[in-house]
Amino acid sequence: MAKASKYKISEHFSRRDFVCRCGKCDESIRLSLGLVGGLELLRSKARNRVNIVKGYECPESSENSSKFKRNFHTIGVAADVTVDKKDLREVFLLAEEVPEFNGVGLDLTSAHVHVDTRKDKKRSLWVVENGIHIDLTEENRLHYFPSKAN
Ligand SMILES: [Zn+2]
Ligand SMILES: [Zn+2]
Repeated sequence: MAKASKYKISEHFSRRDFVCRCGKCDESIRLSLGLVGGLELLRSKARNRVNIVKGYECPESSENSSKFKRNFHTIGVAADVTVDKKDLREVFLLAEEVPEFNGVGLDLTSAHVHVDTRKDKKRSLWVVENGIHIDLTEENRLHYFPSKAN
């Protein structure tokens, strides 16, 4: 096994990518290895750099953002990402191909794709548009992904 730097957690990601960005906590993190594995797979599918916009979020920081829904960032199983040279919709479709990702959200408002490895039986797919969360269904899918029509 190659001797990795202590801050490197996988081939393309380091601990630094995932630390809480609130600036107030001690930057300790929780991070699921399944999530990192999924992100490596996403990177290989995209053949481009995957940028972690948000990885772990400390509980204090999350209280200020999303108090009304389950926050998978605070338990270390979620990441908000963008991919170099890829449109957000393309990133979403690639993320959907990663079996580890059981929650995938296209956030057009904040301009990122959220992925997580939640343990729910049913996979969750959604779009956030104008700040509104819309569950992605067979019916409305064509509205957001017209090129996927066949
Ligand atoms: Zn924090
Ligand atoms: Zn997220």
